[in-house]
Amino acid sequence: MRLIYNKFELEQIISRIKEENKSIGFVPTMGAIHKGHLALASRAKTENDVCICSIFVNPTQFNNSEDLKKYPRTLKSDIELFTQIGVDFIFVPSESEMYPESKIEQINLDGLDKVMEGKFRPGHFNGVSVIVKKFFLLIKPDKAYFGEKDFQQLTIIKYLVKKLNIPVEIIPCATIREADGLAMSSRNQRLNAEERIQAPIIYKTLKEAKELTKNESIDNIKNIVKEKINSHSLLKLEYFEIVESDTLVPALKINEEKHYTACIAVFAGKIRLIDNIKIL
Ligand code: AMP
Repeated sequence: MRLIYNKFELEQIISRIKEENKSIGFVPTMGAIHKGHLALASRAKTENDVCICSIFVNPTQFNNSEDLKKYPRTLKSDIELFTQIGVDFIFVPSESEMYPESKIEQINLDGLDKVMEGKFRPGHFNGVSVIVKKFFLLIKPDKAYFGEKDFQQLTIIKYLVKKLNIPVEIIPCATIREADGLAMSSRNQRLNAEERIQAPIIYKTLKEAKELTKNESIDNIKNIVKEKINSHSLLKLEYFEIVESDTLVPALKINEEKHYTACIAVFAGKIRLIDNIKIL
């Protein structure tokens, strides 16, 4: 494993890999590495000649400065974990390295960024898109790996590379969960013991909502989900939506010929958790 701190060094390494006609698999992360990230990196390693991961807590995607400040930073153990599974390069740039500009680019995501996460975290997906675009242009990966855990992000990244003609294949990877169903997340480490006990209700409720789509209207399901989540003392529903999987348009009813995903955001105490489940 080799650590890379700056763009110049990275560009030289990428040129060499390209000259040798080797394929590059890339996994962008914000660190606090867990088994979800490692599943992406293992797959990138298996499916490519060279596996590159980045660790960068991207400030432009945080719309809440407290959240940015408290985001877990565990670089030493992150490096160890990536090294153990055989990651070839880890890119750990500084903020000034990634953002030399004074004004951040605005990328038109044609409304995909206006629903769900985008509605509650304005500017979040612009920040995500800007940094992922920068990484793609620098690293020129053949394949890039993203978790289905962040379903709206995955949809937006697929759209971004199509819109900007960036020649990279986006590989969706299944959500890795704890034994009790809670989706693994760097934020889980910030849950206290009581919040951690209640947090698995989120996925349990998503599974129940999926069952309900067979008989209930979407409006009824939304009410049931809200009641169920909020009946737990430390949980508070922020949103629950059933959307068409490609367009993220909220569904009014289920059409058997289309694909849908149910997405949820819940506060467990002060910690905001998201999850989703495929409906069709
Ligand atoms: P993050 O460090 O949270 O920005 O996540 C980096 C990548 O790991 C993103 O593509 C996430 O969707 C993915 N990821 C995070 N948690 C999980 C999980 N539990 N299962 C699968 N992928 C995940």
